[in-house]
Amino acid sequence: MRGVDAFADLLAANAEHASGFALGHLAAPPRRHVAVVTCMDARIDPLSILGLEAGDAHVLRNAGARVTDDVLRSLVKSVNQLEVTRIAVMHHTDCGAAKIVRADLRAKVAEATGNDPADVEFHLIEEEPDALLADVAAVQACPYLPAGTEVIGLLYDVTTGVATPHVTTTVGAA
Ligand SMILES: [Zn+2]
Repeated sequence: MRGVDAFADLLAANAEHASGFALGHLAAPPRRHVAVVTCMDARIDPLSILGLEAGDAHVLRNAGARVTDDVLRSLVKSVNQLEVTRIAVMHHTDCGAAKIVRADLRAKVAEATGNDPADVEFHLIEEEPDALLADVAAVQACPYLPAGTEVIGLLYDVTTGVATPHVTTTVGAA
C-alpha cells in the first residue's frame, strides 16, 4: 500500500471518531494542570494509566521519555502559558531505549539509509532509576520554569500496569 492507502485504517477510524465528536468545547489549557513526559512505547497509554481524559493533560513523548532540550522547550510553554503546575516524568520497564546498544542502532541506521548517524544524540538509557532521576533533575534545574512547580519521577511497569514514584521535588528546590 502506498500514499493515502497506507493510512486507510486510520482515516476510516477518524471518520467514525468525528461522527460522534463531542469534545469541541474543550479549552487548550489542561484541566488537570499536569504535563506528562513519557516514552513512545506502544504499550503505554498515558491517559488511561493516570486516569486522564482528553483536555486534562499535556503529553510529551519520545524514545525513552528523556528530558531533552525540546521537551524542556514544551514544558516552558506548558507552565508559563498554559496553566500547568505539575510535571510527571514517566519512564518504564523493558524500554527499547535501554535495550538498544548504541553501536547496533548506528549500524542499523547506516545499513537502512546509507547514512551514518554519528552526530545524532539518541539519549539512550544506561540504567534505571538513574536515568529517571537525571531527567527529573533536568526539569528541576530548568531556569525557565517557575520555582515551586511540582515534579514527580514515575517508573511504569509494563507487566503490572503499576506506576511507582521514585522521586518528588519542586523546580528550584535545593
Ligand atoms: Zn520506552
